[in-house]
Amino acid sequence: MQIVFVETEPSEVEYFREELREHDVRFVGALDEVGAEVEVLSVFIYSRIDAAFLEAHPALQFIATRSSGIDHIDLAACEARGVDVSFVRSYGENTVAEHTFALMLSLSRRIRASLEANQKRKFSYEAIRGFDLEKKTLGVIGTGRIGMHTIRIAKAFDMCVLAYDIVEKPLVAAVRGFEYAPLDDVLAAADILTLHIPLVPATHHLLDRAAFAKCKRGVLVINTSRGALIETEALVEALDSGIVGAAGLDVLEEERVMQREALNLIGDQIISKLQSGLTSHELRVQNPARIQELTGLMRNQQLISRENVVFTPHTAFNSVEAVARIGRTTVENIRGFLEGAPRNTVTGGLEW
Ligand code: NAD
Repeated sequence: MQIVFVETEPSEVEYFREELREHDVRFVGALDEVGAEVEVLSVFIYSRIDAAFLEAHPALQFIATRSSGIDHIDLAACEARGVDVSFVRSYGENTVAEHTFALMLSLSRRIRASLEANQKRKFSYEAIRGFDLEKKTLGVIGTGRIGMHTIRIAKAFDMCVLAYDIVEKPLVAAVRGFEYAPLDDVLAAADILTLHIPLVPATHHLLDRAAFAKCKRGVLVINTSRGALIETEALVEALDSGIVGAAGLDVLEEERVMQREALNLIGDQIISKLQSGLTSHELRVQNPARIQELTGLMRNQQLISRENVVFTPHTAFNSVEAVARIGRTTVENIRGFLEGAPRNTVTGGLEW
């Protein structure tokens, strides 16, 4: 059986090669290097699997994504082609929740400004004063695995928690000491909002201009889920107007492009790329997708360079323990498929 891994790091290569040594295991840097004869494919979040990829790889039978998010895979196309998909259902809900608090504390205690203050000549406590989390209201959007761990940690900080989810768990809420409320009520009450829902059509741009207009002035926004849950332009406007006081972001819209380009373009460089001898109209006509990508890059760069934004490049999952769990589960998922007993499958869609 030919098994191809995409987007792996050196330590993962060693691990998967050893664990699956009885198979023809290969490693490639990007999806476009995967040969047509691949039978089992393991990807991470930046490999977008669509109908065209499936068509170009007729021998493909099984995809094991090394992630809990599955929005990079066209599940309907996989189902139509009879390709099973498995994911890592649970590997780091505590890990991502801990990172959520790393971002939250970075904002509430103004860590970025404090670090930068060190380098400035004039130091002022007033200029970098933070605030306590204790007794503040945390609005948790999504009370699944990560959301629940976030609530557990929030209660240890003695925060008040108000949550929104399409599936409420009243018994857990009673035990954990939080309440559910409609989305608008959570937006209106929260001092800090944190997102823990999947990116699906219903949640795309959940936080848009209309949603920000319902928020308490100065709310902090934390996103460790997926970038497109927030409309970037609306967030920038809300940061400009002070409706959003600060944002802690582990994910961004168009972050795939940032990752792929492996660069942190500054505005001038992007503009020179945009120009490259052509007028912007000619570029727009010739390569609209590229223009959209570069515009997204520039917008993200402007967003993450703000003093009141803390950005981590999709690292919420990235602890030693979580990465080890991802590796183990991926091997189990592949073995399960090869033995005729697939596990952690998502084909047909997850239920929420
Ligand atoms: P989960 O499936 O356990 O929980 C998701 C929750 O969202 C569920 O309670 C579900 O009912 C709710 N939900 C679904 N659709 C909704 C909607 N339309 N409106 C309101 N609520 C809705 O997922 P999880 O393990 O807690 O992970 C949440 C997300 O975190 C993942 O989908 C993934 O995108 C992201 N994630 C990010 C990283 C990272 O490194 N940044 C790592 C892991 C997961």
